[in-house]
Amino acid sequence: MWNEKLVEKLSGPQVVNDSKTPSGRVHVGSLRGVLIHDAIYRALLSRNSDATYSYGIDDFDPLDGLPADAQPWMRDYMGHPLCNIPAPEHSSGTDLADHYISEFLDVFTELGVGAEIYRMRDVYRSGRFNEAIDVILSKADIVRKVYAEVSNAIRPPSWLPFQVVCEQCGKIGTTEVTGYDGKEVTYECKPDLVSWAVGCGHRGKVSPFDGNGKLPWKLEWVAKWHTFGITIEGAGKDHCTKGGSRDVAGACLRGIFGERPPLNVPYEFFLVSGAKMSSSRGVGASAREMADLLPPEILRFLMIRTPPRKTVNFSTDFDYLVKLFNEHDRLVEAGLSGRATEEQKKTLQTIEVNPRSTAYHPVGFQLLTALLQLPHIDIESEIERRTTNELTTADKESLGKRLESARYWLDNFASEEDRLELQMELPESVNRLSESQRAFLGLLGSRLPRQQLTEDEYQRFIFDTARLTPIDQKSAFQAIYQALLDKHQGPKGGALLSFLDNDFLIERFSEVSYSVDGFWTETAVTRDACEEWIVGHRGSIETAAFALFINSLTSAGSSPGSTGVSGGKGVLELYLRLDDGKEHTIRVLLREFEGEGVDLSKETEDLEVQAGGILRELAEKFGLAIEERESITETRELADGSVRLLSELVASD
Ligand SMILES: [Zn+2]
Repeated sequence: MWNEKLVEKLSGPQVVNDSKTPSGRVHVGSLRGVLIHDAIYRALLSRNSDATYSYGIDDFDPLDGLPADAQPWMRDYMGHPLCNIPAPEHSSGTDLADHYISEFLDVFTELGVGAEIYRMRDVYRSGRFNEAIDVILSKADIVRKVYAEVSNAIRPPSWLPFQVVCEQCGKIGTTEVTGYDGKEVTYECKPDLVSWAVGCGHRGKVSPFDGNGKLPWKLEWVAKWHTFGITIEGAGKDHCTKGGSRDVAGACLRGIFGERPPLNVPYEFFLVSGAKMSSSRGVGASAREMADLLPPEILRFLMIRTPPRKTVNFSTDFDYLVKLFNEHDRLVEAGLSGRATEEQKKTLQTIEVNPRSTAYHPVGFQLLTALLQLPHIDIESEIERRTTNELTTADKESLGKRLESARYWLDNFASEEDRLELQMELPESVNRLSESQRAFLGLLGSRLPRQQLTEDEYQRFIFDTARLTPIDQKSAFQAIYQALLDKHQGPKGGALLSFLDNDFLIERFSEVSYSVDGFWTETAVTRDACEEWIVGHRGSIETAAFALFINSLTSAGSSPGSTGVSGGKGVLELYLRLDDGKEHTIRVLLREFEGEGVDLSKETEDLEVQAGGILRELAEKFGLAIEERESITETRELADGSVRLLSELVASD
């Protein structure tokens, strides 16, 4: 993994650091930095490095823009340090900064992020930065030189890199410092320094220490790196351009303190698509919302599996989420099986919330969202019932989180097309399926045993029935979804059937009608194609059987039982069981007849003769013993679309 590679060459104690300004609800994108640093920290720990991970809350920064959820009174606090602004009404936060960051820090706990949190207000007020502030102010000429050389920003010779909290109006964003005598700074609170706040015009002289003011953020970086001995700190790619803030801060650290800047880990953006999430509450997806949507391991996996230099394009679309969960689950299953590669093991260590928290049997997101939408299902006990081993505590915990996640997605992000509803009646759309899809459903209904099967047994049963139809698997599953959910896709077919009542399924599938003639037209092959198939499977055919079918069509207008036959077909079905135990149906079209006055008994006779010849030839050519499975079946397709056994029709005459 990228984090392992990154720390390979490092030696000595390591201090990993990241930070965030709490100027509003924290966007999910900020979690990428948090988790990238956490992954690096964990990689260091796994190598037994002496490592710490600290996370700074930049709450001494001024409020320089209104948060998306701002209340009108906040306008008056523009320019004030975030930690000095009251919390909104009904908030449990001690102040505005605390209000916004608490929600974010809760997510840290849920994700098992091992960072030590510090708040810049405490750092400044405790005097920890006093030394750095003194040195930086004394060497302000170096800062001005770096600004000019690295980022082309020209500051007047009187400019000093510091901002005082105005003693008169309390703003920090509006003050400019113009002198430092080693003890105090001279400052002015300027009405026009920034566009977003108006200074009161006060001029004064005050100590820059112990929380009376702060360094501009690029110099704050320098003070942090110097004071805390930070060795690794990544930054979003927007800070990492040539001549950008990272370069400026690095050059200042070298110039002022003669120290090497920490290892940078530039990281790309985390982008969110899915209109609902990117526009929610006007702030884009918050970290809190993302943590509500995804269980912690999945969120860690999402943020960490992509190397930092690649953009993560997250989406709340169903397909995206199913894929994300499934990829994660394959990893977890590899871990459980004991067959995980070294790489997989490392990834598991990086995504677990706490040791072994990924040791559970995952239940797929697709299945859970489906189950939540099916009526009368107590999901937890259902899952428990059908698990061979008893559910472990970890299994139950993970299932609970996944259910919350699936519910949250259904409530907040699922589109109308995503929603599943078990259809109480056979959907009309089943009529638009192909004849073979409908024939497949009919066969499924007639083959289903009365007793309930397990998920895997149902899945095999579907595959078996598809081969016997024959129909390709995709069309088979699609037909099932259509008949049950009125959708062309859905959760794993075997799982879906396993959660529904068998009598219901038999009734539903048996209701599906189809044209035998149309079905044969779609599926019957020529004798040559049949031989080709046998050649292709020659060594593996274990048993062979056959049956004959003849179906005649009654033209509209003629009454049942009359001789109004307008045409029909005769087919030979071969049932070939291979050495893998799977049986295949090959349907060979032998006769086609049409026209009024067709002599059905002659057609039947001819079919039997023709089939007999072919069967003898096949038996000789391929050394097959082909047994008769049942005697010839004669059906008639009536003008109303129903299909009846000919014997029944004759009997009812
Ligand atoms: Zn002021």
